[in-house]
Amino acid sequence: MAWPSLMQTHMNKLHLKAFKNTFISNFSGDQSGSVIPRQTPGVLYSKAVPTPVKNPELLAWSDELATQLEIEYPDKEDIDILGGNLVTPTMYPYAACYAGHQFGNWAGQLGDGRAITLGEWEISENKSWELQLKGAGPTAYSRRADGRAVLRSSVREYLMSEAMHYLGVPTTRALSLVTTGDQIVRDMFYDGRPSYEPGAIVMRVALSFLRFGNFEMLAARNETDNLQNLVNWTINQHYPHIQGDDKILTWFAEVVDKTAKMIVEWLRVGFVHGVMNTDNMSILGLTIDYGPFSFLDNYDPDFTPNTTDLPGRRYAFGKQAAIAYWNLGCLANAISSLVPDKEKLIQAAEAFEDIYYREYYGMMGNKLGLDQITQDDVNLIMEFEDVLTSIQPDMTIFYQLLIDLPLDLENEIEIVNHFKHSLYHELQPSEITIFSQLIGKYQHRIKQNTCSRENSLMRMRKSNPRFILRNYLLHQAIEELEKGKNELFIKLQDAMKDPYSKNYDEFFVIRPDWATQMAGCSMLSCSS
Ligand code: AMP
Ligand code: MG
Repeated sequence: MAWPSLMQTHMNKLHLKAFKNTFISNFSGDQSGSVIPRQTPGVLYSKAVPTPVKNPELLAWSDELATQLEIEYPDKEDIDILGGNLVTPTMYPYAACYAGHQFGNWAGQLGDGRAITLGEWEISENKSWELQLKGAGPTAYSRRADGRAVLRSSVREYLMSEAMHYLGVPTTRALSLVTTGDQIVRDMFYDGRPSYEPGAIVMRVALSFLRFGNFEMLAARNETDNLQNLVNWTINQHYPHIQGDDKILTWFAEVVDKTAKMIVEWLRVGFVHGVMNTDNMSILGLTIDYGPFSFLDNYDPDFTPNTTDLPGRRYAFGKQAAIAYWNLGCLANAISSLVPDKEKLIQAAEAFEDIYYREYYGMMGNKLGLDQITQDDVNLIMEFEDVLTSIQPDMTIFYQLLIDLPLDLENEIEIVNHFKHSLYHELQPSEITIFSQLIGKYQHRIKQNTCSRENSLMRMRKSNPRFILRNYLLHQAIEELEKGKNELFIKLQDAMKDPYSKNYDEFFVIRPDWATQMAGCSMLSCSS
């Protein structure tokens, strides 16, 4: 007798399976389908049908995510869905209405201007994932923009959200990347010289795309019933373990916890988001909305990849924890009408600092291979931050070389030599001194570990990525794709799935000189 395999999964075709629509059936929405830009008081979403494109072609597909979601490799009809040319009868496409604080200022209603959720994809574990097209045309929230996305920004979002997943950082996912065959006008440098760029669409996937801004919108409009319902719905759907009288407080405390942990993960891998507005903060603590992001090359906590952020550097690498805390304050404010005990709400927000520092020093201990964290270790970590900031080695390569550091190196020159591949400039005598003194202290500290050297090294290898998707690599891959070549794109796609291994050491070099000032290789505009 032939038994069925216990491991057998039921793969589904995108265009054949029935979608669920619990979000839209639970909340009031604007069903008109009109994409005339407008304010939409009283509703949480507006119907928005994707605008068809000329010639959708599949450029990339995330096999592992598809397997997890039990989605079959796309055929012609599925590609039509991914390109916005087909909406099946069980889908109810909509754009969510949200607001936000941008660069510290209240911006009012924003909403999904170029993201359209097609519906919820339920898989066997009784879990539903939101499938959303980014770049599928205008919605009621597109304001003066076109609702489209260029290939350049879509490749960045596709590769980077998947790369973050493989690094172990909480993130929204990307299932597919489709070119549209249409050309889109963008003024990439905001200098009045617009040009045509190829259009593309990413299908994003997350358990929810709700942002702090969804809650802020309802609070600003004094739509207390809608706000209460959205909070209840979020807890029931996404925090179902939370029960009891203090539900909302407990929930908020969990959002604080998840957000703090997400930031610590960003700091571990050297990620700078670049646009931490409250409309880009996920209620599930996921990294969301990949725009002018970057990994750190040289270790500079003041680095912001976003040209729009330049004067204030509000969203610089080293400010991300403080900004997350500020954003959580906005969320607390938004839900405060639902919480009778304001003092407790403030305390829950203020817990951010403790959670953050506990997690941060724990994470840094792992990066450095320490068996525990004492006050002296906190001081040592702060010294690492100071010295790295003044010498600015390549963050990723520095930590890799630290893993290989012989513990008996004493000579200053030998120590500097060991790290030379991570350096962007030749060290001055004073720099050599502070650097080798730090490494000397570190060697001494590692010898105090009560765990084995192998255990300490294992911790370091797990915490320090060896491959990161540097902006200049993305830039090169995009340039090639625009010329119809996909060699580097495929290589990066492979490498980002295995970021802790030595399998992709062709990329294990500091950012080349030519990329330092070049647009798209270090800094980026928001034009996408
Ligand atoms: P972001 O800074 O990318 O998070 O975008 C901020 C707001 O602008 C969101 O409401 C987006 O939906 C909207 N937006 C950005 N680009 C476009 C576009 N090309 N078309 C329509 N809306 C857009
Ligand atoms: Mg956004």
